[in-house]
Amino acid sequence: MSSRYKAEIVSVGTELLRGEITDTNASYLAAELPFLGIELHRVVTVADDHEQLCQVLRQAMARSDLIITGGGLGPTEDDLTRDCIADVLGEKLSVDPELERQLRTMFTRMGREMPEHNIRQAVLIPSAVSLPNPRGTAPGWWVDKDEKTIVALPGPPRELMPMWRNEVTPRLQARFPGESILSRIIKTFTVAEARVSELVQPFFKAANLEIGIYSKPDGIHIRFIAHGDDAEQTLDTTEAQLEELFSPYVWGKDDDTLEEIVCNWLTNRGLTLATMEDGTGGLLAGSITEASKSSGCFRGGLIASSSETKLAWGVPEDLIKQHGAISAEVAEAMAAAARERLSADIGLSTTGIAGLDSPEGKPPGLAFVGISDDHGTRTWQQNYPPSRADARSRGAVAALFRLRERLIELGLTTS
Ligand code: ATP
Ligand code: MG
Repeated sequence: MSSRYKAEIVSVGTELLRGEITDTNASYLAAELPFLGIELHRVVTVADDHEQLCQVLRQAMARSDLIITGGGLGPTEDDLTRDCIADVLGEKLSVDPELERQLRTMFTRMGREMPEHNIRQAVLIPSAVSLPNPRGTAPGWWVDKDEKTIVALPGPPRELMPMWRNEVTPRLQARFPGESILSRIIKTFTVAEARVSELVQPFFKAANLEIGIYSKPDGIHIRFIAHGDDAEQTLDTTEAQLEELFSPYVWGKDDDTLEEIVCNWLTNRGLTLATMEDGTGGLLAGSITEASKSSGCFRGGLIASSSETKLAWGVPEDLIKQHGAISAEVAEAMAAAARERLSADIGLSTTGIAGLDSPEGKPPGLAFVGISDDHGTRTWQQNYPPSRADARSRGAVAALFRLRERLIELGLTTS
């Protein structure tokens, strides 16, 4: 792709300007563009204000070839991105019957009457085609006009990111077919970033390959990008090599999430799951509920933040007295109690120290995951990072990762 092809990101939202939310979309997109060989030369943040947004778009059109907007595609009066693109291009908005039909179907499926102002999300201009958004009501726009391209995406990152990857990236690649650039992500857990970096060093030398290492809440992600005619082949070979190198730690790739993986396996096997957690305060149950198939397998979760609660739910008192609440023994008993109390096939527990305290004379960050199933019980010791928020999130991920391991061990996986 030509390096003279210049991109600009326009982040739309008064909340962003006021510092009420952090612009993670711009940093995500900024990190994505180099993989497409596109140079980003400006990021602009603008309020939900008609005049200012139009002005920013006009300036962006004058100096950039590709303008990516994020936000302002909602149904309300202050969602102005569509109106401003139409104004700047001198085109008229009109309701697209197919988009309207899709939007109404979406509301019917949610069991709700569509509020009439939502019709704003079904409009197009002649130069725009819509980009499907399976995770929300606002479709994106792809606009080609006067050798400029505007891509308008919704603000919520969980909508913007998959749309970028599934809709925008392929279109940009198709525009420059000579430059085949493909990427894949391998997701690992329980291996340190420094170790990943060390092990992937040899791959950095490959001429047609770029590698990025990212630390995420669900572990270290390794992203690799291949260029050229045999990009697909290079990706497959690299993936196989990386999987072998990191084999016990790799749990997924691309859009995979741990909760989706375990819930799919459990649902396909007709197995049910229950949780009991201390230290993660419900985050484990919350994460499981994020999976689309969770209702098919998740019986529920107990939050046992005190020893009294653990006792009330069936954790034996002598275990807590003897080993303390943060121990492998108690994690095991919590998993068994959750399984029993909620009549599930599998009980999953976490107990740990979230933060810098040293209760029971134990070191900060010490934590355990427990699993109880038909074949017995298993526990794992974990170490959480010092911040409470990071420790909670790590706790939930660790539990799901161990559950995945256990399901593999028991041969309960399905593709
Ligand atoms: P909605 O249909 O939700 O109104 P929208 O496309 O109009 O979507 P906005 O109203 O601008 O988008 O933002 C909706 C929410 O998405 C914000 O409250 C915020 O939580 C998140 N969001 C928006 N822009 C960003 C951004 N640049 N970075 C991170 N989060 C963002
Ligand atoms: Mg909005």
